[in-house]
Amino acid sequence: MNTHTADVVIIGGGIVGSSIAWHLTSAGCKNVLVIERESAQGKGSTGKSMGGVRAQFSTPVNIQMSLYSIPFYAAFEKTLGHPSGYRDQGYLFVATKDSHLAYLRSNFERQRSLGLKTVRMLEAAEIIGMLPQLRSDDILGGSFCSTDGFVDPYSAMTGFMARAGEQGATLWKKTDVTGIAIETVAGQRKVSGVETSRGPVATRVVVNAAGAWAAQVARFAGVELPVEPLRRMLVPSEPFDDFPHSSPMVIDMSNGFHFRPEGRGFLLAWNDPEETSSYNTDFDPAFVEKILILAAARVPAFENLAVNPKRAWAGLYEMTPDHHAILGPVDGVEGFYLANGFSGHGVMHAPATGKIVSDLILRGKTTVVNDISVLNFDRFAKGALLHETAVL
Ligand SMILES: Cc1cc2nc3c(=O)[nH]c(=O)nc-3n(C[C@H](O)[C@H](O)[C@H](O)COP(=O)(O)OP(=O)(O)OC[C@H]3O[C@@H](n4cnc5c(N)ncnc54)[C@H](O)[C@@H]3O)c2cc1C
Repeated sequence: MNTHTADVVIIGGGIVGSSIAWHLTSAGCKNVLVIERESAQGKGSTGKSMGGVRAQFSTPVNIQMSLYSIPFYAAFEKTLGHPSGYRDQGYLFVATKDSHLAYLRSNFERQRSLGLKTVRMLEAAEIIGMLPQLRSDDILGGSFCSTDGFVDPYSAMTGFMARAGEQGATLWKKTDVTGIAIETVAGQRKVSGVETSRGPVATRVVVNAAGAWAAQVARFAGVELPVEPLRRMLVPSEPFDDFPHSSPMVIDMSNGFHFRPEGRGFLLAWNDPEETSSYNTDFDPAFVEKILILAAARVPAFENLAVNPKRAWAGLYEMTPDHHAILGPVDGVEGFYLANGFSGHGVMHAPATGKIVSDLILRGKTTVVNDISVLNFDRFAKGALLHETAVL
């Protein structure tokens, strides 16, 4: 059997792998092979996502990744000839404590200093004027960014992959990567290929884009990656007209409950603190009652929100200890690159990730963010963890 050869093999055909394939092929690297074990793309986290995109983060690197990604989504159809579904309805953070306001203000100042012009602080009265349907007795103020919003993750993913295919990339579906071949030359460990259920592939460059399964893939190269799966549930409502469908994503900072319009209804989300790491993606019907209590506490009209638990779903976040992605080459395994651990931000940061990983593979440097080294895997060994507190 002839061994297949690729310049770059990307393990995982979700939105991150697809964006990397598009960015690589757009930069002239044509022989790119994306390997996906499912029969269709999107069966990992990408197809389960809420599709929120925001630049309202607290750390410079996350803000800068959004400053690349959101305009990219806005221009997606023009650039790729395929819709991303971007809707600039904004994200509204609603503060109910002075500490929330101080936190939003310091984030706002950092976001502004990095060039985000569309974010502003709001007085309580402005929030109430914007959305009089909110229970407002405890609202102290908030922040709003008009270019934050939502995308259609499935459409963006398929757009990236379709165009990457036209530019030379190949997608293998129903193919499991089962190993990474490493050779040792002059004491240096180097990638020489991957083992798959379709046979071996020879390559010098492998990108781990395996989402919540990234730690399993990293182990093929002898790397212990601190990426853990965490179940995340979403509850869509039935059609509901007593709240504006032009609403932004609204985040109630008193408890983390957030929601956005979706179709003729609303999509409800909450980070249940009782959730522990596992690959469980069963939806727990008891979650419906928990989230409806939170929903009605912030939007009294949501008392009448109808929900069909059969339409609710669960997927996996891919958590790292500091809630930041792990991006770039791995010291000690030449040719092995990571694009992992987005901690629930992988859709919004997929465009920047594609550009950064492509830049690092082809040029060894990137200008998308000021200092990409802060996201390197070596931060865990060095104890140089980042801290993102704006996690939803
Ligand atoms: C309920 C929910 C809501 C979310 N909301 C948001 C949001 O609002 N905004 C946002 O930005 N993000 C959100 N996220 C997170 C976002 O969905 C993920 O960060 C993103 O989809 C990660 O993309 P990915 O391509 O890395 O992973 P995936 O889409 O999971 O793709 C990884 C792929 O790798 C494949 N794979 C794994 N191992 C192998 C192997 N050995 N061989 C071959 N293939 C393999 C898998 O089958 C999978 O298709 C949400 C996630 C969930 C679950």
